[in-house]
Amino acid sequence: MTIFDDVVLPAARKTHLTGSRPDIRVPMREIGLTNGAAVVLYDTSGPYTDPSFTPDLAAGLPRLRAGWSATPGGGTQRAHARRGAITPEMEFAAIREGVPPEFVRDELAAGRAVLPANVNHPETEPMVIGRNFLVKVNANIGNSAVSSSIEDEVEKMRWAIRWGADTVMDLSTGKRISETREWILRNSPVPVGTVPIYQALERVGGRAEELTWEVYRDTVIEQCEQGVDYMTVHAGVRLAYVPLTARRKTGIVSRGGSIMAAWCLAHHEESFLYTRFRELCEIFAHYDVTFSLGDGLRPGSIADANDEAQLAELRTLGELTAIAAEHDCQVMVEGPGHVPMHKIEENVRLQQEWCAEAPFYTLGPLTTDIAPGYDHITSAIGAAMIGWHGTAMLCYVTPKEHLGLPDRDDVKAGVIAYKIAAHAADLAKGHPGAQAWDDALSEARFEFRWEDQFNLALDPETARSFHDETLPAPAAKTAHFCSMCGPHFCAMKITQDVRRYAEEHGLAEEDALTAGMREKAEEFTRRGARVYLPIDPA
Ligand code: SF4
Repeated sequence: MTIFDDVVLPAARKTHLTGSRPDIRVPMREIGLTNGAAVVLYDTSGPYTDPSFTPDLAAGLPRLRAGWSATPGGGTQRAHARRGAITPEMEFAAIREGVPPEFVRDELAAGRAVLPANVNHPETEPMVIGRNFLVKVNANIGNSAVSSSIEDEVEKMRWAIRWGADTVMDLSTGKRISETREWILRNSPVPVGTVPIYQALERVGGRAEELTWEVYRDTVIEQCEQGVDYMTVHAGVRLAYVPLTARRKTGIVSRGGSIMAAWCLAHHEESFLYTRFRELCEIFAHYDVTFSLGDGLRPGSIADANDEAQLAELRTLGELTAIAAEHDCQVMVEGPGHVPMHKIEENVRLQQEWCAEAPFYTLGPLTTDIAPGYDHITSAIGAAMIGWHGTAMLCYVTPKEHLGLPDRDDVKAGVIAYKIAAHAADLAKGHPGAQAWDDALSEARFEFRWEDQFNLALDPETARSFHDETLPAPAAKTAHFCSMCGPHFCAMKITQDVRRYAEEHGLAEEDALTAGMREKAEEFTRRGARVYLPIDPA
């Protein structure tokens, strides 16, 4: 089965909000409810969920941004913002977020937000990442030397955005890296990130010590030309920091970090990513590629969280953030990793303080190491907390983390876990409008509009199938109970009965509650005083 067979979520309809010009058409997902109301949600799924769009992998997506502000060397979104200009990309992102375009511009100008949109990726639907916007989720895809084909990776991208991934990172390390990336880019409506050091390493036969600035630079330029929107650069892994990891429980766990550490030790020289950083800024600025300053020394275990190596690198990332700003480059800063709950807040505080409030982009963090196979959960706990404290984008972790390459089901489980974390953080931060979705679902639940409850869910199919496992009959979709408490002990039905009873008898709700409880107690005794009753299939 391909994604085209099952891309549209039930009761969802693609709608568009138009901006100040007709070609600014911002996609939204409208969910029609059985009571005639509708809920409109942020939509990351791209044209694939538009019934009027016929997908053609070879042709790629429509070039939405062709003719907009972006031209090579024409200035980054940050440069435009600093000049006071509002680009179509900024307006597009503002409409998606429900904020004025001036606000997006000002956050970009201040470096508190980024709008990753390479001038050579016109297919992307602009979006903004910053702590004063909705918390975003990234899904990693990409083949490895041992597994997965190009088609599988494009499919994974579309599958991930269907469930709500805001960006994807192509972390391919196997054969045909450039080709895989080209297919993903031409078919991706969300920003695409990469870690260019992986491909540079392939080019020198996998021998880290043979890497050179020139090989790396040429790899970066090739990826810039293709349209990669943001790139992880591990420029904070400096020679002097490598010994700081010697006594760690898990050493260096970042692939990019370990490659650069190996290079530094082999040459006993400062990392070329650090010494040539200004040249890199010039290249990034030309294409408006956003920096994602990598945390190559992130902790790989609870024991190593917030240690000297991690914090030394973070200070350097602050220094590099300032250099990138001089070139009008857009910058995010990456963060850990594995961090117990009581050390999470400190990560955000230090990153914001040392990196001039640049958006923080964290992997998880995993809050415990004891649950391989469930690391989407161990890390979603940390992701929700770190998002609440101000992290702007969360990189998902799938159940396969530490164990193998994720498949389609793992991608879905990871994205859903992270959408929950991101939305929980939006609620905690009081993001305007975030609670409307919860309220709509709560009302549907309380009014026993089962269809609406399923359709409003992050994962409608799973919600429906769980319900139908025990009560599959159509009549159960309007029943005032489910199989959890059964018809006689449904708390929500009892509350509704109480309210009706109060209304009919002219009583205050509290008196009605007492009277209703008495009646229920009598009913309980009459039915044999059994706590668990058999379910009456509706
Ligand atoms: S039976 Fe229990 S779980 Fe089901 S709807 Fe009623 S209160 Fe909720």
